[in-house]
Amino acid sequence: MGLIENKFEKNVLTSSVDFLFNWARRSSLWWLQFGLACCAIEMIAASMPRYDLSERFGMLYRATPRQADLMIVAGTVTKKMAPVVRTLYDQMSDPKWVLSMGSCANVGGPFDTYAVVQGVDQVVPVDVYVPGCPPIPEALYYGIIELQHKVIKFETIAKKSSRAEAEAERERDREAARSTLVGAAD
Ligand code: SF4
Repeated sequence: MGLIENKFEKNVLTSSVDFLFNWARRSSLWWLQFGLACCAIEMIAASMPRYDLSERFGMLYRATPRQADLMIVAGTVTKKMAPVVRTLYDQMSDPKWVLSMGSCANVGGPFDTYAVVQGVDQVVPVDVYVPGCPPIPEALYYGIIELQHKVIKFETIAKKSSRAEAEAERERDREAARSTLVGAAD
């Protein structure tokens, strides 16, 4: 993949090939099996038969970061644990995504103390945040679906969008979300 990655201008062919890659990726996200605190219990519940996260989304949890492309940070990230989280992230295969689950991982939660990282985005880049203390399995579902929307837009062989283009696309997404909200309120 390295030889053709990020090399070609965007056109029908590169967009179609990228879509195929991304369709496969978003339909088979393999997540790293680890949990840091109570949010992990909800994550485990989501993967059990009642919610069946694995079967519904083609997801598998892996015991090694080298076979995983999704990290779900579920729980409080202490400063002692932060280097371990970063090492696991670095060992995951590219392209990889991070979902921050729960208030503790998002912003430190109720633990505004010297021992807790106030947001896992200080340690690894986060793609999707799921709020709540703890978020229920349905909330995690919603986060995974949002992540899938992001994965399907990933550029592999087509040249990556410039920062300005990416920002313009985000603005279009925000505008679409705003009009949906206004439409729902009317
Ligand atoms: S957000 Fe709440 S449930 Fe999740 S790890 Fe923190 S204290 Fe526990």
